[in-house]
Amino acid sequence: MSMLFASTFSDGQYRQPGASEIKLKLKKLNFLGSVLYVAAHPDDENTRAITYLANGRLAATAYLSMTRGDGGQNLIGPEIGELLGVIRTQELLAARRIDGGQQFFTRAIDFGFSKNYQETLEIWGKEEILSDVVQIIRQFKPDVILTRFPPDERAGHGHHTSSAILAQEAFDTSNDPKAFPEQVKTFGLWQVSALYTNTGRWWNQTINESTPGIIAMNVGTYNPLLGESYSEIAAASRTSHKSQGFGSSGSRGDAQEFFEFIKGDKADKEIFEKINTTWTRVKGSEIVQQLVSKVISEFNEENPAHSVPTLLELRRQINLLENSVWKTRKLKEVDQVIIDCIGLYMEVKATNFMVTPGQQVTLSFEVINRSATAISLNKIASKQLSLDSTLSLSLTNNSSHIFRSTKSLNSDAAYSSPYWLKDSHPIGLFTVQDKSLIGKPENDAAMNAEAEFSVQGEKLVIATPIIYKWTDPVRGELMRPVEIVPPVFVNFPERVVVFKDQSPKSISVLVKSASQKKISGNLTLDLPAGWKSEPTTIAFELSKLNEEKTLTFNVVGGKAEVDGIIRAVAEVEGKTYSNSLQQITYDHIPVQTLLPEAKVRALRININKVGSVIGYIKGAGDEIPASLRNLGYEVWEMKNEEVTEANLQRVNAVVLGIRTINTNERIGFIMPTLLKYVERGGTLVVQYNTNNDFEMDKDKIAPYPITLSRDRVTEENSEVRILKPDHPALNYPNKITAKDFDGWVQERGLYFPSAWSNKYDALLSMNDKGEPARNGSLLVGKYGEGHYVYTGLSFFRELPDGVPGAYKLFANLVSLSKQKSLSNEKIKVKK
Ligand SMILES: [Zn+2]
Repeated sequence: MSMLFASTFSDGQYRQPGASEIKLKLKKLNFLGSVLYVAAHPDDENTRAITYLANGRLAATAYLSMTRGDGGQNLIGPEIGELLGVIRTQELLAARRIDGGQQFFTRAIDFGFSKNYQETLEIWGKEEILSDVVQIIRQFKPDVILTRFPPDERAGHGHHTSSAILAQEAFDTSNDPKAFPEQVKTFGLWQVSALYTNTGRWWNQTINESTPGIIAMNVGTYNPLLGESYSEIAAASRTSHKSQGFGSSGSRGDAQEFFEFIKGDKADKEIFEKINTTWTRVKGSEIVQQLVSKVISEFNEENPAHSVPTLLELRRQINLLENSVWKTRKLKEVDQVIIDCIGLYMEVKATNFMVTPGQQVTLSFEVINRSATAISLNKIASKQLSLDSTLSLSLTNNSSHIFRSTKSLNSDAAYSSPYWLKDSHPIGLFTVQDKSLIGKPENDAAMNAEAEFSVQGEKLVIATPIIYKWTDPVRGELMRPVEIVPPVFVNFPERVVVFKDQSPKSISVLVKSASQKKISGNLTLDLPAGWKSEPTTIAFELSKLNEEKTLTFNVVGGKAEVDGIIRAVAEVEGKTYSNSLQQITYDHIPVQTLLPEAKVRALRININKVGSVIGYIKGAGDEIPASLRNLGYEVWEMKNEEVTEANLQRVNAVVLGIRTINTNERIGFIMPTLLKYVERGGTLVVQYNTNNDFEMDKDKIAPYPITLSRDRVTEENSEVRILKPDHPALNYPNKITAKDFDGWVQERGLYFPSAWSNKYDALLSMNDKGEPARNGSLLVGKYGEGHYVYTGLSFFRELPDGVPGAYKLFANLVSLSKQKSLSNEKIKVKK
């Protein structure tokens, strides 16, 4: 796998490039052209084009994704919404480390599927996002913009269309001093030379190399210095999108991508044809050009350090040039390639991955020079630790230096948490107070170390994130970023608690220490008006780092129905703390740490249920079990082998997790047992499945014919018309009215059936603006003595979010059988 142009120390994970990769980096010093690829979501980008441009054309190449993909489905775990956006952000960064691109984002939120650009731009806030795109263009200063989509309905998704519209408008305005004038002082103005659309896709499949006006780009060429074709590298890059299941196999041989001219200075054959991509575009660069040619021609793969004197001279000469984007960019590249040629390794580790403000931190430095070049280490520094030490350490060839330094973290250091999630925000636009952060894919490292070297008399500074490293017996050496956190975390185990009446309910809070010292404090719940907790305050003591305790309150809700919030606040030494700790851990991305406010949505709703035990069969992952427990059910999360006729006699209903029929390889063998259970009086609630990738025969998923489709209703406020007001599912044990569809989030539902047997009752009708009525969101069929329910309603989003009406309706669905023919025997539910 190639990681050619990933900056060596950028993520703290050092990888020394081999001589052939260094050679390619030297050649890149000779190319001064840049491309910004623009689309809407993680995965929209054409990784083959990005890989080819970055590694084959050697252009400065970046992908601007409008959103972080917050609104999609997660194929590898339970995270949805903002947490999924955090995962997809990291997947894009992982992809860019492989294909050599840079990554940018606007503040736009992926709020779910949008059928047209008018809706998208209204929800995002068109001027805000245009301002972000213009700022990123003024900062990155691309010669060429490539859009993934056309600016009209052919793009299919409102976000896609909008990304192309915004790219075109930004092309027209980024050089206008009157447009977003507050940015101009920092970033200057910029005129992009040309804009093309990446075509030859579903809206235009007839294009080939000889189509007039179309530029073809062979992205399948082979790079002997890397030992791979660009399509092979691109496949590895694309496979980073694991939460979307986009694993991809490399292909070999010529492969064309097509680009249609839209605006600017039109090229005929090659997108850089009208752009000066040599050093002559930079005034006074004649000597620089000579030195670049010299360093390339004199490169010695057996001894890369031989290039260092020329590279140092090159650096001096570039420094003399007038300021420009190319001066900044090439200086950075030269610094990196000097480090690569020397084989200079530096790593700075902390002894723990969490540090609290004011705490002492011991850093371990490892530095080694792996060449004959004369180097000394003169200074180490860290702003966050007020470390600034002068030394004079001579680094001789291949002799390793390891030393430690202990300092206190500044007491006013800010806590770590993704910058775009720090403040509350409307549904379409993240709130970012500090405008200089706009465009950045992620936070800067919480703690950095800088080292100042002298290389043959020239000063060279390397900044590196401070990391935590350990060795896993199976996976080997692992690392994670060091985060700045409060001394104590308070975590609720649930996101929602439902109070069905005024009987007390126990609410637990986990307190966990992140402090090296013993801490003692008091924990209090901040409750909705009129609610009470017993006791009011609980004292706690945590004697060491990572120690945790669960503290339990008995909470009594008020008489009236309330949709409220319960917060947990810990008081320690006169200071209050209310951050929870949320970590996202997957093998393919660095551990992500979020510190959201500790709160739980508290619903006091008059809600009834029937039955006591629900069986649940996991699909792609959702939080339905926790939601059912909230209603007072015991939930048996059944393994495939536990789905037997005997066991099913012990549950009042069975719920299939989302996409079970798409993801459970054995569902075809279990379904007959489930249908027999229904026939004998049980209830089976099947949540949405996509209409391809079935793990069983399509016509056997239900007792009567049902045809799934891609129909969806994305407007979460769209009117819901009740078609069968007298149906038991809408009346028992809770009366469902139109009001119960208030406050839904993101969407109504997805992948609704488009056709079904008349043995089913379609209970609800709904549609997005301008579309025909969709009546397949909730189908209930009586089969034998029981009920089969198929629903594309987004319960998997609404229940974890605490939407009261969704709880009432779901309670009715699992209560359909009223225990008539089922055993009342109370069973011990296995975990
Ligand atoms: Zn997309």
